[in-house]
Amino acid sequence: MKIHEYQAKELFKKYGVPIPNGGVAFSTDEASSVAETLGGYPVVVKAQIHAGGRGKGGGVKLAGSAAEVKTNADDILGMTLVTHQTGPEGRLVKKVLVEQGLNIASELYLSILPDRATAKNIIMASEAGGMDIEAVAAETPEKIIKVLVDPLTGLQAYHCCEVAFGLNLPAEAMKPFFKLLTSLYRMFCDYDCSLVEINPLVLTAENDVIALDAKVDVDSNALFRHKDILEYRDLDEEDPLEVEASNYNLNYINLDGNVGNMVNGAGLAMATMDIIKMAGADPANFLDVGGGASAEMVENGFRIILSDPNVKGILINIFGGILRCDVLATGVVEAAKKTNIAVPVVVRMEGTNVEEGRLILAESGLNLITAVDLKDAAEKVAEIVA
Ligand code: GDP
Ligand code: MN
Repeated sequence: MKIHEYQAKELFKKYGVPIPNGGVAFSTDEASSVAETLGGYPVVVKAQIHAGGRGKGGGVKLAGSAAEVKTNADDILGMTLVTHQTGPEGRLVKKVLVEQGLNIASELYLSILPDRATAKNIIMASEAGGMDIEAVAAETPEKIIKVLVDPLTGLQAYHCCEVAFGLNLPAEAMKPFFKLLTSLYRMFCDYDCSLVEINPLVLTAENDVIALDAKVDVDSNALFRHKDILEYRDLDEEDPLEVEASNYNLNYINLDGNVGNMVNGAGLAMATMDIIKMAGADPANFLDVGGGASAEMVENGFRIILSDPNVKGILINIFGGILRCDVLATGVVEAAKKTNIAVPVVVRMEGTNVEEGRLILAESGLNLITAVDLKDAAEKVAEIVA
């Protein structure tokens, strides 16, 4: 689960990772009040959305006076911010972080994330931090250093040295940096993070190291033990269909294609998406209704798929194990009766009570296309949406 920069900085503060003074504001007036508490200018006004690249998109603005804070906050609040991470539709900005401006000597990059290949945590750092880190990674990858930390033994002093020397830090900045990295690593583990990233990590003219930006991603599977993170959830930043699906305990992810698909089991869903691609079409979503889905869940899943305007055809692919084919068929028929299905539906099912299931579909009077196997199903639906 992603959280906002201002929330990530609350966690940083709790762990003693240095951050600029500042506060979140939901209106221009609030932004002005926060700025007044900061004891001088410049201050920075930063759009809070769950996407990076805000600086380049015009979502981070420096203000040299109280009047400029007002103008900046006015401009940024309510704007639709488009960055390379938001997609062309952009994001509506509803809050800003107002912070003291810093005397930046250099902008560094620092992140920690799990590395699947080595089953270790990896610390990445670069002297060439700031807004062009993607270009650094693509063109001069040698400027990014990587240090692996075994999660069983944890972060050791030599790891910190390796990162600090790799960053060419001045001697005066070593001690504060060690402290920062140690705290950050502890936070990363305590909160089951899948990413913590500071870009830029700023080295000031006074040789202080301060997290100017903060990005934290917490493994959603660990949220049950981090109730404080759950409170940070911002539904405005999530896809509305995905939010609705999560209310029904459905695993749904909205994608760009036009073949809606409903499958039981994550593995089968992945295979179904592959085979849709192989048939020359693109899935509009991932939807795993789960092994033990009820007719009601099938109905909800069906309704969610249908409310995606991109969907031009639907493929239902169910292997009847715990979810019996007759239960599935009942759910589909119920949903179909309640919703006005404007697109063709291809059904492929096999397994427990498949004959009963087919009978329910056949007698429903609905215009459903049955497929004999998975390949046949994918080809039929691909032909429909072509
Ligand atoms: P991002 O573009 O979404 O990653 O947003 P960041 O928080 O990283 O801000 C983008 C850029 O704005 C930074 O790389 C800085 O160059 C600049 N910036 C942010 N805060 C300050 C500040 O306090 N002082 C100055 N001079 N520049 C800042
Ligand atoms: Mn940044």
